[in-house]
Amino acid sequence: MSARGRQPAITPAGLPSIHGRWLDELLGGPIPAETVATCHDCAMCLGDGVPSRDAVYFDPEVKCCTFVPTLPNFVVGAILSDERPELAFGRRTIEERIARRVGVTPRSLAPSVLQQVVYREAVVEGDGDVFGRARSLRCPHYATETNDCGIWPHREAVCATWFCKHVRGRVGHRFWSTARRLLQSVERDLACWSLLQLGMEPEVLVRSYPPEDERPSSDDVESRVDDDTWRLRWGRWHTKEHELYRSCTQLVMTLSFAEILRIAGPQSAMLAALTRDAYRMLLVTTVPARLRPGKLRVLPTGPETLRVETYSSHDPLDLRREIVAALGSFDGRATADVLAEAATSRSALDEATVRVLVDFGLLEPLD
Ligand code: SF4
Ligand code: SF4
Repeated sequence: MSARGRQPAITPAGLPSIHGRWLDELLGGPIPAETVATCHDCAMCLGDGVPSRDAVYFDPEVKCCTFVPTLPNFVVGAILSDERPELAFGRRTIEERIARRVGVTPRSLAPSVLQQVVYREAVVEGDGDVFGRARSLRCPHYATETNDCGIWPHREAVCATWFCKHVRGRVGHRFWSTARRLLQSVERDLACWSLLQLGMEPEVLVRSYPPEDERPSSDDVESRVDDDTWRLRWGRWHTKEHELYRSCTQLVMTLSFAEILRIAGPQSAMLAALTRDAYRMLLVTTVPARLRPGKLRVLPTGPETLRVETYSSHDPLDLRREIVAALGSFDGRATADVLAEAATSRSALDEATVRVLVDFGLLEPLD
């Protein structure tokens, strides 16, 4: 999620430089930018427009940042090491998060148990009224004076790859969702790998990886951990927490993505292959040979137009009614025949429109 905005994009696709380099090495080509997610002038915020009865709007003082990111150790170190003046606010929010000792381990800065529960219940499983709106759930790295992300050039995998809207609709969503899973997997593996490289003793390291079924303590839920727990958590790095994070950064930054895939587990290798496939699909612009209508939700917006939702309520299409009505003509016949018929009847349906309908899932390939 992101209040992507004022800072210049780090790569053509707007990724932080480390993720951009990794994906460049994996994919061997540029990733098309998601230009419709106009973050500084947030595409989900109302602006001066007239509210639409059926549209979802975000609070411009929160945007999509009702989220507390889990920052892996090498990302924390990158922010602490970045002395650019425009990162001063972001650095301070990281220092404050570490000083609070909530969700802080050598492995990462994570949301507290309480934050995780609230996020799951209210944002993921809620009725859609909290995401993008609840200021009390705003990310600690969100700069309220500028309504931008304070750690933008170093944000983690989720914030780097989530977009409210996609130029290629569902096709773009698939690509970024797959890339997100890959980058999250790699971030987890590298956080552990870097601590092992630095010689952290397994009996210390394991405290950053509690068993999944371990019940949270009161410390985990709401308060900073006590001094003894904190000392045990850091071992010989106790009082040198910032130094540890920076050392992890130095180790990770020099790795090529091929080396990272050798370090990471088979799950990352699988996700890398899926990301390559999703990238190939992102570059395909021809229309499939045979099509049929997909699943969609249609809302009337005017006498001539309809709003159509498919893969996400954040990214609907406003279409002329005749285009929506024409979906039924895709009945398994060759797409070229349907287009030829449309041309003779002077319908608005042409190949470029069909590509958009496929991208957004209004039409699906038959095979
Ligand atoms: S890290 Fe930045 S982009 Fe991510 S939720 Fe926080 S403010 Fe938003
Ligand atoms: S809601 Fe969309 S446009 Fe707004 S900050 Fe988030 S990704 Fe960017």
